[in-house]
Amino acid sequence: MTKRGLLLVAALPLLLGAAGDMPELVLPIACKLGVDCAVQNYVDIDPSPGAKDFHCGQRTYDKHRGTDIRLQSMAQQRQGVAVLAAAAGTVLRARDGVADISVKETGKAAVDKIECGNGVVIGHAGGLETQYCHMAKGSITVKPGQRIAAGAPIGKVGLSGNTEYPHLHISVRKDGRDADPFALGAKPGQCDGGRNIWAASSGLTRGYQSGQVLNAGFATGPMTMAAAQEYGENQRPRPSRSAPALVAFVQSIGLQRGDVQRLVVTGPGGATLAEGKLPALDRDKAQTIIFTGKKRQAAGWPAGRYSARYRVMRGDQAVIDRRFHIMLD
Ligand SMILES: [Zn+2]
Repeated sequence: MTKRGLLLVAALPLLLGAAGDMPELVLPIACKLGVDCAVQNYVDIDPSPGAKDFHCGQRTYDKHRGTDIRLQSMAQQRQGVAVLAAAAGTVLRARDGVADISVKETGKAAVDKIECGNGVVIGHAGGLETQYCHMAKGSITVKPGQRIAAGAPIGKVGLSGNTEYPHLHISVRKDGRDADPFALGAKPGQCDGGRNIWAASSGLTRGYQSGQVLNAGFATGPMTMAAAQEYGENQRPRPSRSAPALVAFVQSIGLQRGDVQRLVVTGPGGATLAEGKLPALDRDKAQTIIFTGKKRQAAGWPAGRYSARYRVMRGDQAVIDRRFHIMLD
């Protein structure tokens, strides 16, 4: 081999970012986990037709090869939420131009071979690769070959490809093979195995939650899942003292079979205004919604503080206990 050939061979892995120590991953999206976004699905580590996440919970589905970080609402997505490089590296591929439209409207055939929608692939040191999917049309700001720093914006969260709610799907590969960043190197199907390669600052090194609130608040009428998805906490039209009804709602993700949800609304004097309870869930649920409320009396709503308390009982344990309120004046 000539000297020049050797040099080329040595330079290639450096260019691709394959050499060096494998980096930790920072949070790849500009939102606050547990506040205005949450992990909706983990990687399916189960090689069988069933599905389980790295903790052997059900927060995944069959053949899901990435981690989904879901935004609270479409309004938040329309405002623009940046997708960030999970680590320093080199952009390997990028695709833009796919429409932002729910697959519920177009059908799966429309996203055949473009399931990822608008996406970016970045190569990192240590044979690590990250892929970002479902980004907003026209939002991708990086090009193949470009060097990029950890946490640098590469585009925005969208609704492109095989998706029906605004989220970032991030796939991680190590040495060309699918990997779970929560359990790198775990044996197929092994619970809590391998190594979590998220940086501590990402908020993803702890707090696996088998059930959490995604979105909660007050509305002026019955709430559907679609309506809840439209507005986040600070974007929702606010009920007033003349609202036709005062309704509290909670949209939760990742609840388990047997979980019992209860929602109680109290008025300014502390008296119970409305109370709702759902039967025990008959199976694990990717998402659920509960709402309860009351129609306005002729005199309208008295001014003051209206409170809601949402509890999820799993056996005799409250696994979620969330309070929220609204002031009517
Ligand atoms: Zn996904």
